[in-house]
Amino acid sequence: MKIRELFQENKTVMSLEVFPPKKESGLETIYDTLQALGSLAPDFVSITYGAGGSGGCNQTLELAATIKERYGIEPLHHLTCVNNGTEDLSELLAGMKAADVKNILALRGDLPETGAPREDFCYAKDLVAAIKRDPDFCVGAACYPEGHISQAEDQENYQHLLEKEQAGADFFISQLFFDNDCFYRMVEEARKAGVTKPLVAGIMPILSKAQVQKMIFMCGSSLPSKLIKLIHRYGDNPQDLQKASLEYAWQQLGDLVAHGVDGVHLYTMNRPEIALQTFDYLRGGSL
Ligand code: FAD
Repeated sequence: MKIRELFQENKTVMSLEVFPPKKESGLETIYDTLQALGSLAPDFVSITYGAGGSGGCNQTLELAATIKERYGIEPLHHLTCVNNGTEDLSELLAGMKAADVKNILALRGDLPETGAPREDFCYAKDLVAAIKRDPDFCVGAACYPEGHISQAEDQENYQHLLEKEQAGADFFISQLFFDNDCFYRMVEEARKAGVTKPLVAGIMPILSKAQVQKMIFMCGSSLPSKLIKLIHRYGDNPQDLQKASLEYAWQQLGDLVAHGVDGVHLYTMNRPEIALQTFDYLRGGSL
């Protein structure tokens, strides 16, 4: 199934993200996690590609194919410009087709230290356009409720989003954020700029003080004072911090669903218990 079709069903699409295990761990180390996540029957599961020190890029396809075959869940294969040129792309797309993986999240990826993008695909929109030459693929892209970290002007955010839609993006998944108003503002501004495709909200529960510090400097998301106070109160007690921040994430998700957003995407960090409790909450009638 093409993920874009899910958004025509008049419901909030619920999805999860996983990452391939580090190379040395082997793919089988993630099967218990997938088994647990599969029992939640999410609308789709996305699999990262070479992000932040996760497993090798070629594990993404293997994982995507396994998610489809074993658990009958639609995989969304992330793919980046920085790792691939034109020739790699034809080979990759052929491999995906052979494995019946036809939903791709097209991203630029983080630039190498030299700072220079590859010539073949400079920006995510170039990769979107190249994949969409084959109409058999459904392609998503990233959106940023608080703008991309290296972006100077707010208005660029919407211009670049529109360019990705014009290149053929079928839907967008957002960077993590902790303040729902940022997401609602982005949706409003994106619609004003002419973006029409579904905009999915990405939520990542905080698991530790160190994790949140790393994330906010990596992606530039702001921390509302309510969350800062919570980290201050429970920062030295990981269990209590996790419990309180999970409840914070649930409130965010509840509010997003109540606002009728197109979809919510949970960054699971390969922690199935986080996803199990969150889906229980979302489906438990407490909304
Ligand atoms: P782009 O849309 O190309 O934007 C990159 C920068 O260029 C932005 O600052 C943008 O404003 C600017 N820009 C865009 N178009 C133009 C233009 N025409 N002229 C000038 N400037 C322009 N990374 C991974 O490595 N692997 C993953 O699996 C992964 N998964 C992700 C999933 C989600 C949902 C998100 C939000 C991010 C993910 N990332 C991943 C991180 C992503 O690769 C980085 O945020 C990256 O720096 C930008 O990617 P992009 O696709 O948004 O790039």
